[in-house]
Amino acid sequence: MPDTLRAEGAPQAAPAGARLLMHMCCGPCACICIQRLQAEGWNITGYYMNPNIQPLAEYLRRREAAGQCAEHFGIPMVYGDEAWDLTAWLRQVQGRDTPPERCGWCVSSRMEGAFAKARELGCTHFFSSLLYSRYQPHEAIREAGERLSGKDGGPLFLYRDFRPDWQAGIDLSIELGLYRQPYCGCVYSEAERYAKKLKRLVQAQARQGAKAQ
Ligand code: SF4
Repeated sequence: MPDTLRAEGAPQAAPAGARLLMHMCCGPCACICIQRLQAEGWNITGYYMNPNIQPLAEYLRRREAAGQCAEHFGIPMVYGDEAWDLTAWLRQVQGRDTPPERCGWCVSSRMEGAFAKARELGCTHFFSSLLYSRYQPHEAIREAGERLSGKDGGPLFLYRDFRPDWQAGIDLSIELGLYRQPYCGCVYSEAERYAKKLKRLVQAQARQGAKAQ
């Protein structure tokens, strides 16, 4: 394995001259990661690149929250808006449109995007705020990062497990007034989030129909 920094969640001082590209899935997940990594001395640039966040209005809401977060911590932001293409994303997901395949592909593709952008910008390391979430496939994110780490002389993967900071991250995002999303991101997850509501409505209609007969 390349010289991946694996502190298993333990803080570790940033190497001298290191530059870290942080893929930001959203402001609420990123805020505690930035706070912790700045405390370790990392020089961070934020990268918002999430074609999985749908519809576009939701993508824009989370984009704004990521920007607010970056402004609070005084880090520069790069936006990968050109990657947002609903039709292309849905086509790529075709054939693996249920978890865990869908989510594994979704997080891996964003890790690949983060690695490529970090390389382009001359960063020494890359990281993703996806590693904060309790709801994301953590091992798939980590595996993608480790697979890419140092590839062809590219940037190294910085691994941290920020899941133990779950509540601290929620508290900080509320303190900063960041928009907190009600579902993971893609249209599938939006439908899954509200499926029970639709089911209740269908059942209520069926009961009313039965009474009317
Ligand atoms: S549920 Fe979340 S991680 Fe899974 S495919 Fe949708 S946006 Fe990606």
